[in-house]
Amino acid sequence: MCPKPGITLNITATASLALPSAVSVAPRVQSHRSQRSASFGRRCPQYGQGIVSPALGPGRVAGASVYSTLISIIEGHKRRGIRQVNLQLAAIQPFGRLDHNGLKGALLLFLGFSAQALSAGLGPYAHLVVNDSPGTPRDGVRVTYLGTNGYQFEFRGHALLVDPYFSRVNLLSVALNSRIQPDIARIAEGMRHLAPKADAILVTHGHFDHLLDVPIVMSKTQARLVASASAITLVRQLPDAGAPSGDAVSAGDVRLIGPWKIRVLPATHDRLFGKVPFDQHEARGPGPPQRPADWICGEPLAFLIEIGGQRIYIDSGGTTAQWPPHEQVDLAILGVALPDSRVRLLGALERLEPRYILPSHQDNFFRPLDAGFQFGLLTDFSRVRRDCERENRGHLILLDYFRPWTLPRK
Ligand SMILES: [Zn+2]
Ligand SMILES: [Zn+2]
Repeated sequence: MCPKPGITLNITATASLALPSAVSVAPRVQSHRSQRSASFGRRCPQYGQGIVSPALGPGRVAGASVYSTLISIIEGHKRRGIRQVNLQLAAIQPFGRLDHNGLKGALLLFLGFSAQALSAGLGPYAHLVVNDSPGTPRDGVRVTYLGTNGYQFEFRGHALLVDPYFSRVNLLSVALNSRIQPDIARIAEGMRHLAPKADAILVTHGHFDHLLDVPIVMSKTQARLVASASAITLVRQLPDAGAPSGDAVSAGDVRLIGPWKIRVLPATHDRLFGKVPFDQHEARGPGPPQRPADWICGEPLAFLIEIGGQRIYIDSGGTTAQWPPHEQVDLAILGVALPDSRVRLLGALERLEPRYILPSHQDNFFRPLDAGFQFGLLTDFSRVRRDCERENRGHLILLDYFRPWTLPRK
């Protein structure tokens, strides 16, 4: 899908957002000549860098100082294409020909681009970031953050993984629902930080940022998959899945795997634009999942992990329709990517009374891991922090990518 000749492009994305080079460009008017000379098949022409003055026209929004990109997908009247328009951050005018899905994709994309400019890293919260030092006692469970909602827990030579995800599919592919696949090089790089073998991989739900890399990580770590039935169905539909050892669980189940006691708990998923993304509970078809929307949410789960006398609760977020149990835990890892889960945070802390609180799923997971931790734009860590301090029950901590921290004993 290439912009049509004559359309004004105003794009300030940079390559550091891990977008294809075709959109790592700045604005200019797409000329008929460049369209003819540079468009080969479905490939889009390249554009040079530059700064534009606002371009006004029907269905467009003029900007004054800060521009981002809005890509609208136009699918009506047998037309399909991308239209790129100006967007002023402060004043959004009518969106013209955007349909509902196009608007959602475009907003997602816009927010991601904005996150590039507006989001901070962990620097301002360095005093909350914990990691082991050479003198740290290693008698407790060791926690390594893998980005997004991914964790490795280690205890006496055993390892357990939750939601490992290293591929970090870029935002454009998600917004356009393009074909996606695991990034072998990124997985290999991420797995350099993992134990060579794992007892199990727990998966909270089927979205690509939780499940996409799991089959490969399973094959390399010889771990058994513990996930909802729909997530296991997705994995089994992959052509190279072989015969993965999937253990379909549902809320209420308990699994004893090596030294780990895993209690499966009910959960809900945050809504985005009023709706759970890719909300289906059944696979969309018999074929393998190929696009972001094929990685359906399925039945969201949370887990209570008991290991070596310590208790860890983990979810990937949720709504007030489902609360964590009234159980004291040593560490609560709570997804806070979106507003729903932040509304739920105080109540979750009241129930879990954790000694340590680790907010999760709050990085911009469209950026590669080696670009470093950056908060996603839809996160609100200052609110999370305020609520945690108001509750005043546990230590609020943050983890940086691949820097292990051992949960202290009581
Ligand atoms: Zn999700
Ligand atoms: Zn997620």
